[in-house]
Amino acid sequence: MKKNNYLLLITSIFFFSISSFVLPQTQKSKIAVTIDDLPLQRIDHFENDKLQKVFGKLVKNIKSQHIPAIGFVNEKKLQINGEYDIRRIILLKKWLNAGLDLGNHTFSHPSLHDLSIEKFEEEILKGGKITRELLNQNKKELKYFRHPYLQTGRSLEVKNAIEKFLFDHNYTVAPVTIDNAEWIFASAYDKAIDSNKTEVMKHIGTEYIHYMKRKIEYWESQSNALFGRNINHVLLIHANTLNSEYFPELCKMIRSVNYKFVSLDEALQDEAYKSNDTFTGGGGISWIHRWAITQGKKKDFFGDEPRVPKSIMMYSGIDSE
Ligand SMILES: [Zn+2]
Repeated sequence: MKKNNYLLLITSIFFFSISSFVLPQTQKSKIAVTIDDLPLQRIDHFENDKLQKVFGKLVKNIKSQHIPAIGFVNEKKLQINGEYDIRRIILLKKWLNAGLDLGNHTFSHPSLHDLSIEKFEEEILKGGKITRELLNQNKKELKYFRHPYLQTGRSLEVKNAIEKFLFDHNYTVAPVTIDNAEWIFASAYDKAIDSNKTEVMKHIGTEYIHYMKRKIEYWESQSNALFGRNINHVLLIHANTLNSEYFPELCKMIRSVNYKFVSLDEALQDEAYKSNDTFTGGGGISWIHRWAITQGKKKDFFGDEPRVPKSIMMYSGIDSE
């Protein structure tokens, strides 16, 4: 062996040893992406051409990441003036053709807190008709249900009745751990687009990614505090213009904080999701806090959850998160 080669070998062994034994191989955390309010949030704000363009971009940008994602549909949004619109149904076909999954988010996005059990059950049944047909055409099953506003009932009686109804109809509830107020950024973003303010759009986009990073870090620390480890997470975002443009950047940030993307099926295999949940509060809060409240955690456990910056709140015109 030549001296140079020998030196190379020794150096390689040295660095290999360092990387294998000195630096711990950090295991990646897991996160599932769930996208609510399909086909699009505030859909009536968009003319058909614009809707097709924004939705097309959303699907293209999700597909570019080669990750699993599930979208939750409000089938009322497939209608215009009470009639189903084939152009909107085709959007869901495009979503499925991109290899993405779909779930039921009720027909018209009501709050469970405003409806009777019977009316809410009708909303569940009516909300899954077309989605189920489209999934079946793709040899998939309709499996997941997401509560609008993450509101799961103001009493155990209502909560349990709906959970039983969902179970009897072969639905699995899709919980959320990385809860956030991304929809406020999205609303501000649409406003900036409408008034052609490119610089403001950029500012909102940058602030959005920064905010989501802080949210992930917060829920990670809450998970560690409750379970002593970082559980598999479920992220909630919405189908909107902001994500149609910023989804790749959002994924890049999530990867940079050591996550890998998994399906909702895989995320929910974590034992944490078997935790007891008797939460009946009004807010649509993260399941991590539902479990914490169920366990009787005191106020100081919940700490300071990152908030939407004041400038974004003001620009969006929305007064509370
Ligand atoms: Zn929703």
